[in-house]
Amino acid sequence: MYDISELKRCIGDLYEKHRGNNGGNVASYIPELGKANPDHFAISVVTVDGQEFSVGDSQHEFTIQSIIKPLAFLVALEIHGREKTLSHVGVEPSGDAFNSVELNPRTRLPYNPMVNAGAIAVASLIKGASPEAGVAALLQRLAIAVGRELRIDERVRDSESMTGSRNRAIAYLLHNFDVIDEQIDHTLHQYFSQCSVLVNSRDLAMIAATVANLGENPMSGKEAFALTYVRDAMAAMFTCGMYDYSGEWAYRVGVPAKSGVAGGIMAVINRQLGISVYSPRLDERGNSVRGIAVCTDLAEEFGLHAFEFMNPGSNFLRDA
Ligand code: GLU
Repeated sequence: MYDISELKRCIGDLYEKHRGNNGGNVASYIPELGKANPDHFAISVVTVDGQEFSVGDSQHEFTIQSIIKPLAFLVALEIHGREKTLSHVGVEPSGDAFNSVELNPRTRLPYNPMVNAGAIAVASLIKGASPEAGVAALLQRLAIAVGRELRIDERVRDSESMTGSRNRAIAYLLHNFDVIDEQIDHTLHQYFSQCSVLVNSRDLAMIAATVANLGENPMSGKEAFALTYVRDAMAAMFTCGMYDYSGEWAYRVGVPAKSGVAGGIMAVINRQLGISVYSPRLDERGNSVRGIAVCTDLAEEFGLHAFEFMNPGSNFLRDA
């Protein structure tokens, strides 16, 4: 057990340092997302031994968007196992935009579960017997991971569904190549719903800490995700989690992470810590501007990079 006070001080300092950064723009391609308050800003951390700290608008709810993708991938792996899941989606970075209407030409599968094509293939694998059942089953998992019931923002879901021609095109492409079955509307309902789960920054840090804690919620000790597959989700986040910044993120920050277009980022420090930042102004790659800045500084200060070799900060955390 370690004292969280150093971490608190640092998070407080980073909040002050970056709150004046007004760079970037709120996503508006899903009309409802454009209504977000651009000034909102929150940082949360939860340790695997159950200490937590948040600063800023940490109670403000926003839609999880793409941050659901590694979690949905975990659920698919649990239901179907590796072999079957990987016969529907690869684990190769694409180097293309997250919403590209494309498959890997070599495999005729989506590149990975972090791009929309892969996430829609995963949604098909976990969609359940009815549209309600698949969404309810995922919400149940998330409730264990965060320690409270979560709900869908139906206005965001419907807004995305009404303007989601690109995702529909992807779904038809997937069906054409036998990656998903003919229940296209059911699959898209699952996909749009899971992107629209409402979380706050504390929830996201709790999910990240649950993943860091090998699938067990650090507060309740309950299993949200099966231990066997947690590494699969971490690997996919590490290589593909930050849109077209994934390589640079791995280089500069060096931890598994996933961001979403509503402005959330969750970062997982394996067996130690979950971190989240919420700030809806995005850079040109779709990542939260303040989120990137905070995580980069935090990783530097505490030596969080997976390949860090000698930073006194890393000892501080690793003694935990
Ligand atoms: N629901 C969004 C879409 O498919 C997710 C985008 C994201 O957060 O990357 O466009």
